[in-house]
Amino acid sequence: MSDATAIDDILDLAVAGGRLTPEQGLALLEGADLLALGAAAHAVRTRLHPERVVTYIVDRNVNYSNVCDSYCRFCSFYAAPGAKEGYVLSRAALARKIEETQALGGNQILMQGGTHPEWDVAWYAELIAFCKSFGVHVHALSSPEIQKIAAVSGISVRETIERLRAAGLDSIPGGGAEILTDYARDAISPLKCTADEWLEVHREAHALGMRTTATMMFGHRERAVDRIEHLDRLRALQDDALAAAGGRDAGFTAFICWLFQPTHALKADEPAGGAEYLRTLAVARLYLQNVRNFQSSWVTMGPKVGQAALWFGCNDMGSTMIEENVVSSAGVSYRMLSPEIHAVIRAAGFVPQERNFYYEPVEARFLDSPERLREVVGADPKNLALPAEAFDQVPASVAARR
Ligand code: SF4
Repeated sequence: MSDATAIDDILDLAVAGGRLTPEQGLALLEGADLLALGAAAHAVRTRLHPERVVTYIVDRNVNYSNVCDSYCRFCSFYAAPGAKEGYVLSRAALARKIEETQALGGNQILMQGGTHPEWDVAWYAELIAFCKSFGVHVHALSSPEIQKIAAVSGISVRETIERLRAAGLDSIPGGGAEILTDYARDAISPLKCTADEWLEVHREAHALGMRTTATMMFGHRERAVDRIEHLDRLRALQDDALAAAGGRDAGFTAFICWLFQPTHALKADEPAGGAEYLRTLAVARLYLQNVRNFQSSWVTMGPKVGQAALWFGCNDMGSTMIEENVVSSAGVSYRMLSPEIHAVIRAAGFVPQERNFYYEPVEARFLDSPERLREVVGADPKNLALPAEAFDQVPASVAARR
């Protein structure tokens, strides 16, 4: 059998819902034609989501602090404990960011920071409770933060999550996964939680009935086998969550992958581009069929590659990203407000639908012109915690096209 025939057989297997082995995943990643991969990934997406709808959520990425003692080699965001660049958002600043998010039609905050050597579970419970008091969905604290909180507090990961949930934590984001192999983590983030520890947080959260998301940042020091091992470990964890749930939807709500940006503190060995992103995304869609939703990573890849991703397995545009600090600190970031997201989704051939964290449809409450945006959030953009350039990103023509 020729290599091409073998690849075709693997693609047929995946399109039919078959489960790929790591060897088959690797063969696709290294040898499949890009457009054939995209077609197969789109077929899987269409089986899982037959409707021609692409969802998105209005939320805000809030970074409560940049103080961190993990010193990841790729990170341009953190400040070492005691460094003058370190910050912690005041309650007033936090309140303003949440209220602006609500004014813009959002009902969720994605809140993450660094790993702080002293803050314990009581400190974080107060932070979460404050955010929850506004009535928003609190999607917060990635695995490295939760592992750190548990260690500082001298309690188990399970108890840490239980106490944070009691304070108002609704779900846990998949940040800090990067690549879930020791080889890759040793190369880029040796002080951050291990692959097993990252998975432990999500396993415990799933066991408590909490939903989480899964991520992958690739294109740095990892090998192709590391990407496949990453997907394999996520798939196994999702299998466990679904088995324990007895047929109900459970575990990861979504998978999000993005390309490492070589403008970060760490350079890439061989800088990858949009084609590499789409190739890996499509293989992930074929490999990880037990995770229902795949988000397009337009924040790092830009709206145009973000549109292409909708034909390479994605059914969701993720967040409108009212604010983003971590990727933008590396110099690469895009922002869109709801009207522009609508236009981008429609131009790609799909129907936009706003959703909540659980991928349930909600009525779009977006503000459809710069004038209405200004009316709601205030006359002077300089007085807002909202980035002023957000106002420039709602072209007047967009409302008519949505
Ligand atoms: S990536 Fe996260 S854990 Fe690593 S140094 Fe940056 S803030 Fe800290």
